Amino acid sequence: MPDVPSVTSPEFIYLDNNATTALFPEVVAAMAPYWQSVYGNPSSSHYAGRCANRAMETFRKTIADTLNVKPFQLFFNSGATEGNNWIFHAFAASDNPKKKVVVSAIEHKSVLKAAQALDSAGVEVTILPIESNGTVSLDAARELIDGNTGLVSIQLANNETGVIQPVRELAELAHRAGAFFHCDAVQGLGKIPFDLYSLDIDSAVFSGHKIHGPKGTGLLYLKSGSASFPFPLPLHGGGQEQGIRPGTVNISGIAGLAKAFEMLPDEPTLARIGALRDRMETLLLAAIPGCVVHGADAPRLPNTVNVAIPFVPADILMANLPLVCISDGSACNSGAFDISYVLKAMGISSSEARRSIRISTSVLTTELEIDSFIEQLTTKHKKFETITQIDGNS
Ligand code: PLP
Repeated sequence: MPDVPSVTSPEFIYLDNNATTALFPEVVAAMAPYWQSVYGNPSSSHYAGRCANRAMETFRKTIADTLNVKPFQLFFNSGATEGNNWIFHAFAASDNPKKKVVVSAIEHKSVLKAAQALDSAGVEVTILPIESNGTVSLDAARELIDGNTGLVSIQLANNETGVIQPVRELAELAHRAGAFFHCDAVQGLGKIPFDLYSLDIDSAVFSGHKIHGPKGTGLLYLKSGSASFPFPLPLHGGGQEQGIRPGTVNISGIAGLAKAFEMLPDEPTLARIGALRDRMETLLLAAIPGCVVHGADAPRLPNTVNVAIPFVPADILMANLPLVCISDGSACNSGAFDISYVLKAMGISSSEARRSIRISTSVLTTELEIDSFIEQLTTKHKKFETITQIDGNS
């Protein structure tokens, strides 16, 4: 094992679950047999292959039951980035004369960049604006989703703010215009109850590592299954997953993914997560007057708080809280010091966006951790606030 420090010591507080989650021990245990004893290739026709294949189909059924869909509608892949790209490339390859794609300004980069990459294929990309509370503007959608639109892609919930999007209404607008409706459902899974049929979604993507499952695992949902999928299949290879996702399947990953689906929180657990989030917000607003919770008046995921802290830039606060993992933007953007494009799209100023942190909990987060986090944050904030004010006065 490379010489890296462990992040499991008790004083360590992990509050970045929208970036990724810790694997449940049960998930690790569920994967182990498929590395060692049931290691066959599910495409092989011999006994080892048939055992792996039977297991894989059992896992597909488990996940389908959890999502209330049919197994033939689910295709295993490596995660949501792959699934989102897959949809856009399939659309680009189609002879659909409606060559306009509509996405929102706050989609994950794997949607925004995949959409932008289609420019050269003659696709027109239209970006829907965002209301100040973090929801996609339905007025703009009514105007911009028109008869030329072939594909609309909107997320179920935003990874930075946790704001839940009006997906049902947007799918209806897409279908009324004769367009295909894709949904990046990554952040909604395991955090809010939803039903793919009643939302009238044509395709959706899910990611294992956001639900305490293994990294590099995920799912593409196609309402039509593979047989009547309306666009050409963009990947070529051995025909696995009915040609939707060729390549030897990751059977141990799928075992872990199915276990993570089995362990998705029930409604009382989600209510507990929501109550903990509310408590955290109340404590935070009381401890640091002037905090502003982004998207506070919109429906939000129960585990996410995105808040602007007065005076102190988020990166400075974070650097001074070495045992706390929070985010100052989407984890997928970190490394580059960009102001969050999500907050910008909500009309939040650069200065406020730079002072914003995202805190995202999970079923593993405890009250004790939240209390300790607020205490550490408040102490550091007081110190930097004083420095800022002295600097400001000098
Ligand atoms: N979509 C959303 C909304 C996400 O939050 C993420 C991950 O941050 C992704 C897509 C990408 O998922 P994956 O890591 O499975 O590629």
